[in-house]
Amino acid sequence: MTNHMENPAVIVIDMLNDFVHGSLKCDRASKIVPNVKRLVEAARARDIPVVFSNDAHYPHDPEVVKRWGRHAIKGTEGARVIPELGPAEGDFVVEKRTYSGFFETGLDPLFRSLYGGRGVRTVVLCGLHTHMCIRHTAADAFFRGYGIVVARDAVEAFTEEDHLAGLKYLADAYNAEIKGVDEIIASWG
Ligand code: ZN
Repeated sequence: MTNHMENPAVIVIDMLNDFVHGSLKCDRASKIVPNVKRLVEAARARDIPVVFSNDAHYPHDPEVVKRWGRHAIKGTEGARVIPELGPAEGDFVVEKRTYSGFFETGLDPLFRSLYGGRGVRTVVLCGLHTHMCIRHTAADAFFRGYGIVVARDAVEAFTEEDHLAGLKYLADAYNAEIKGVDEIIASWG
């Protein structure tokens, strides 16, 4: 069964040079690149909004100082989306300074303005990491009433254990539908 997905938008989280190749390299990131690419290209072809939700840190952000060290510093090459993915013309780029794509960013008002002012209703999450930025972005999407779909084969984490625990939590806590990229694209018709 392919159920209808109401007013979707794809959020691509932290598919940045530093996360894929650089200072915060995740060895498991490269393998999802073709799946993320297929998902965003299918979305663009259907006029489904694509948003790149990108870390753009100041060096003194808590996440940098207290937890991960320097990564994705605003304006640096490490903070750019990997070239395989774009952004393409018409895509949106919304910078963030924490794990969540919604926290103190313009993402929610952007979503409310789309679909002729009727607003995005379903967020389709892909990128990095399943149990960190995907999870926190899903939390804020849930709190704001969005439906949540997570592209199982287009999200990753540093370890298989973190990835699987992340998917389970997303389903348990936020009623996220966990689907493969092909299944998501099929549901768009
Ligand atoms: Zn960060």
